Amino acid sequence: AEYLEATGAYPRWVRVNTIRSTLEDQLDGTFKGFNRVQTIKEVTSTPGRNLYLDAHVPNLVAISPAFEIIKTDAYKNGEVILQDKASCFPAYLLDPVAGDVIDSCSAPGNKTTHIAAIVNSRVAEGEECIQKVFAFEKDKNRSRTLEKMVRIAGGDGIVRMSFGQDFLKVDPLSPLYDNVTCLLLDPSCSGSGIVGRDNMPTIHLPQGPDSKKTASKTQPQPGGASSSSSSNNKKRKREDKVDKQSTKAEEEVEQRTMIDDDGKETVVSSEQELKKRLDALASFQFVLVLHALEFPAARRVTYSTCSIHTEENEGVVHRVLQSEVARRRGWRVMRRDEQVSGMRKWPVRGVETSGSAEDKVVADACIRSYKDDGRGVMGFFVAGFVRDEDAAERDI
Ligand code: SAM
Repeated sequence: AEYLEATGAYPRWVRVNTIRSTLEDQLDGTFKGFNRVQTIKEVTSTPGRNLYLDAHVPNLVAISPAFEIIKTDAYKNGEVILQDKASCFPAYLLDPVAGDVIDSCSAPGNKTTHIAAIVNSRVAEGEECIQKVFAFEKDKNRSRTLEKMVRIAGGDGIVRMSFGQDFLKVDPLSPLYDNVTCLLLDPSCSGSGIVGRDNMPTIHLPQGPDSKKTASKTQPQPGGASSSSSSNNKKRKREDKVDKQSTKAEEEVEQRTMIDDDGKETVVSSEQELKKRLDALASFQFVLVLHALEFPAARRVTYSTCSIHTEENEGVVHRVLQSEVARRRGWRVMRRDEQVSGMRKWPVRGVETSGSAEDKVVADACIRSYKDDGRGVMGFFVAGFVRDEDAAERDI
């Protein structure tokens, strides 16, 4: 009971990095002796070391947060990567097949390394060739983390990284990108879906097999023990108590907290200010998606945020679908029945905004997750856009 209080109700999500390892090897090695539980709730509600094999995302497990995975060789060698389940949705939904892939906003590299792992498996299975993954990151400091993460994950032979590169300045018509068929867009957002701002654990990037330096960059992820010092535990217990008592008004305030890419929080003091911030973010996100839709050979795009706000999520999707570029190039939403099996099965769908027949299709196509709904994941949103093979450019 004590460790549950100390760590909260979130399990630790662990993606097995199939570039360096296999699920079977990890189950027989790092997770040997773990009790296999059948529901996500049991991971945290049952004492001891528990493991739940995820039913939606391949090669993903949830384990008891008290297990110090960051001390294992598997973690240090990049065989496993700590990544929230919802954060695994975009690369899985993108399901890259033939051609090159772009990750437009890459750092710290969770989704880049996930794409690299999927691409690596496809190549190993002899499927139609994916040649390269281009990873762009505008922020030079965050680019360093990306580089480290890709190297540790063994993705450096697959991923070409452009550090300090603004995706909006990448020319879609450059011959370099002639074969880009799939793009993953995971831009800056309000971060309002991120779990437990105050008791957010610190995740350290591992040093990697060939590095002697201690990784310095930290990254928030729900559900793990960071420092196990008793004062921290006491602090968390106090905060948990306060959390439980939180009123609706407090929740509204929480939703006004904006978290930037480095985890810095800004409390937005009024509804008006929140709206202004969300509008600015949504405009940037909209422009970014439109830019992606211009790549000549592109057939599939995923758009994701760790935001709970409709403005940044379904709102952007609707604006994109009504845009000139979407109509000119034949882009439409990736319907639920077209999605990879795990995402089709995922029950939490988008928010309806107008109730029209088209709106219902879009809402069903959108994938959401909510923190604190018992599924053990962070608040997240992802939608896919597709362009059919025979879609011709139209003059509008
Ligand atoms: N996809 C990352 C992952 O899963 O690890 C997280 C991406 S984070 C939400 C957004 C990132 O986009 C930030 O690192 C930010 O610096 C970067 N970014 C913002 N605008 C950008 C742009 N115009 N071009 C490239 N990167 C951008």
